[in-house]
Amino acid sequence: MNKNENVGLTDRLTGLKNYECFITEYEGMILNSVEKSEDLALAMIDIDRFMSINDEYGHAVGDEVIKAVSNHIVRSTPENAEIYRYSGDEFAVLFPDTEKEKAFLVMEKLRESFNFDSKDMERKVDVTLSIGISSSPEDGNRITEIVRKAEGALFRAKKAGRNKVCLSREEKMITKTSHYTYEQLQRLAELAKKEGMGEAILLREGLDDLLKKYDY
Ligand code: GH3
Ligand code: MG
Repeated sequence: MNKNENVGLTDRLTGLKNYECFITEYEGMILNSVEKSEDLALAMIDIDRFMSINDEYGHAVGDEVIKAVSNHIVRSTPENAEIYRYSGDEFAVLFPDTEKEKAFLVMEKLRESFNFDSKDMERKVDVTLSIGISSSPEDGNRITEIVRKAEGALFRAKKAGRNKVCLSREEKMITKTSHYTYEQLQRLAELAKKEGMGEAILLREGLDDLLKKYDY
C-alpha cells in the first residue's frame, strides 16, 4: 500500500490506524480466527475524565495526553497486537490468538504502569485509564456484538470508580414480557432480516443503548 492510499486510514494526532481501518481489519481477523479456531480478544481503552483534563489544562495538554496514552499502548502490547484510535479518547486493541484472560493480564499491567509526565513539569496531571475486554467466539462473531460486550465491560469499569479493567461476562437471561405496536414489530422484523440478526439480540442491544443514554 503506498503512502497516499494510507492517508485516510491513519489518525493524524497519534499516527495510529483509525476507526475505518479498525472495522475493515477486524472483519478480516474474525474470519481468520474462525478458520483457525482461535480466540481473538478485543480491549477498549478509555481515558478517565478526559473532558475535565481538557477543561482544566487546555486542549494542547489534552492532545499530549492522547499521544502519551497511544505511545504507552504501543510499548505495552505484544508485537502481533493491532492498535487503533477508536474515537476521541478511546483506543481499541486486537489480540490475535489470545484468550480474554491473557489480554486481561496485559491490560492490567498497562493500566497500572501508565504515568503521564507533562512537558511542563510544574503541572502534575493525574491520568488514569478504564478498560473493557471481550473476545470472539465467546462473545459472538459479529463486530457490533463483540464491541458492545467490550463497551459494556468498560462501562462497568467506569461505574466501579474508574482506573480499572473489566472482562465481559455471560449474563443469565430472564424473561420479561412486553407489548409493542404492530408497526414496531414489523420494523424490527425487517431490521433483523436486513442485519441477519435475531430480533431478541437487537432488542437487548436497544435496551443497552437506552440504559447508556440515561447513564444507568
Ligand atoms: P469518562 O471517564 O466517563 O470517560 O469521562 P470523559 O470526560 O473522558 O468523557 P468523554 O468520553 O465524554 O470525553 C471525551 C472528550 O474528549 C470529549 C472531547 O471534547 C475530547 N476530545 C476528543 N478528541 C479530542 C482530541 O483530539 N484532543 C483533545 N484534546 N480532546 C479531544
Ligand atoms: Mg473518557
